[in-house]
Amino acid sequence: MNYQISKNAAALSPSLTLAIDAKAKQMRADGLDVVGFGAGEPDFDTPQHIKDAAVKALADGFTKYTPSSGTVELRRAVADKFLKDNGLTYKPSQIIVSCGGKHSCYNAILATCQEGDEVLVPAPYWVSYPEMVKLAGATPVVLPTTDATEFKIRPEQLREAITPKTRLLILNSPSNPTGTVYTAEELKAIGDVCVERGVLMMSDEIYEKLTYDGARHVSVASFSPAHYDHTIIVHGLAKAYSMTGWRLGFMAAPEPIAKAVDAIQSHSTSNPTSFAQKGGVAALVGPQDHLPVWLEEYDKRRSYACQRLNAMPGISCVPSRGAFYLFPNISQLGLSSTDFCARLLEEEKVAAVPGIAFGADYGIRLSYATSMANIEKGLDRMEQFVRRVAE
Ligand SMILES: *Cc1c(COP(=O)(O)O)cnc(C)c1O
Repeated sequence: MNYQISKNAAALSPSLTLAIDAKAKQMRADGLDVVGFGAGEPDFDTPQHIKDAAVKALADGFTKYTPSSGTVELRRAVADKFLKDNGLTYKPSQIIVSCGGKHSCYNAILATCQEGDEVLVPAPYWVSYPEMVKLAGATPVVLPTTDATEFKIRPEQLREAITPKTRLLILNSPSNPTGTVYTAEELKAIGDVCVERGVLMMSDEIYEKLTYDGARHVSVASFSPAHYDHTIIVHGLAKAYSMTGWRLGFMAAPEPIAKAVDAIQSHSTSNPTSFAQKGGVAALVGPQDHLPVWLEEYDKRRSYACQRLNAMPGISCVPSRGAFYLFPNISQLGLSSTDFCARLLEEEKVAAVPGIAFGADYGIRLSYATSMANIEKGLDRMEQFVRRVAE
């Protein structure tokens, strides 16, 4: 049998991060003491009142289909969130709740991009963006950045990259994998170029609540009605409420796009899990007092890790002020990011993600969504490794 794999599926690159992850898991299974910096999810538990709401929904028999774009109750709660946090007015019909922020990203790209379109993806990028673009049949065009500009694209760079085929720019601030947060001024300048050139923006704001050191998230949609009209916001509950396994994300978009996404979703996944949506309402309208506690802990780890990394020979690390990642530059050590991470795992039993997975071979991604004790142990080991390599 000759199994034909579709052109779009065959174009996907298998996840490089998974190879390291699989190896780390195997080593742990073999009884080795591996320290993991690979986590892409919070190490805290989902707050209790959110779990209670979902348990109650189950007990109450809230177990059937909901509208495919989410319950009216949850879409209202999302619209209220955008008004309260971002000063943005969306009708519930402009809000689509999906099976995770990732699903929202995919829907947004699928609804707006097709063969012949170019999508601008600043690097280091979240691994899934270019692959989603390829699945839609469009072409990802990478905009490289370095740590010298805190991983931020410049308006001139954007202007030069735009062609008549450019359909969409993907923004992600605070960023995975670098933790970088654009200032309002920087972001407005980027948005201005898109408005001027008629390029749509997909702004992934899932790390909105996770900022430190006085950095503050601003949505690019909030600068003017024109910015609003050029922006699809994708968002979700996974990171700020530690609900990664719940699979709940949402999008706010201009009406025609929301309508197209609703159609896509109604013929693919249908609604996100009914009782999870009840938990989602509890997350958005309930107490938010877990957040300052988590932020203080993340910030402590961030400062510590950054200081330790900058004290290592041949390593420099931008003290990024968002999400829960650092992206130290390892290029001085003369190893590719893949070799660096493979040897770090082999020789010191520390798992990190090679930057090449994010389109930036000069760095590695370290997640500090792990305990302080783990961070200390992992960085002690990494320091030994780096000293050996630097000799
Ligand atoms: C985690 C993450 C998401 C969404 O995750 P879900 O679990 O699908 O909600 C989206 N974008 C980025 C950049 C992320 O890191």
